[in-house]
Amino acid sequence: KKQVHTCPVCQNLTDREVCPICDDDTRDKSVICVVAEPKDVIAMERSREFRGVYHVLHGVISPLNHVSQDDIRIKELLRRVAEVREVIMATNPDTEGEATAMYISRLLRPMEVKVTRLAYGVPVGSQLEYADEVTLSRALEGRQEM
Ligand code: ZN
Repeated sequence: KKQVHTCPVCQNLTDREVCPICDDDTRDKSVICVVAEPKDVIAMERSREFRGVYHVLHGVISPLNHVSQDDIRIKELLRRVAEVREVIMATNPDTEGEATAMYISRLLRPMEVKVTRLAYGVPVGSQLEYADEVTLSRALEGRQEM
């Protein structure tokens, strides 16, 4: 079995040099969907609505659990946004997911990139991975600028 590591582009887990989504020429590289965990990429892919690429943070900012902004992959995201037109914040609609989305959107504000948030088709306080694909499709369609 090949070694699993993080994709150098999107930080998702992969056993290839670059993950299959980043490597796919048909995906729109100008739209990045930011998620907390690799399993959220799987959930979003199930919706089959999203044709952009991802960025996996590997966590959310959580002072209670001693996770700071430097412990998740935010720097790696900032390096990518130069050639991007939209960043969709798709962290979970719970307190920490919201705080993380707000923090990142503030960092992105001076960078002339549109920042959107998934609409609340996703039930508040719930987790993205448990949302069904119809709910996720609607959440993506109804996303709003932050
Ligand atoms: Zn990738």
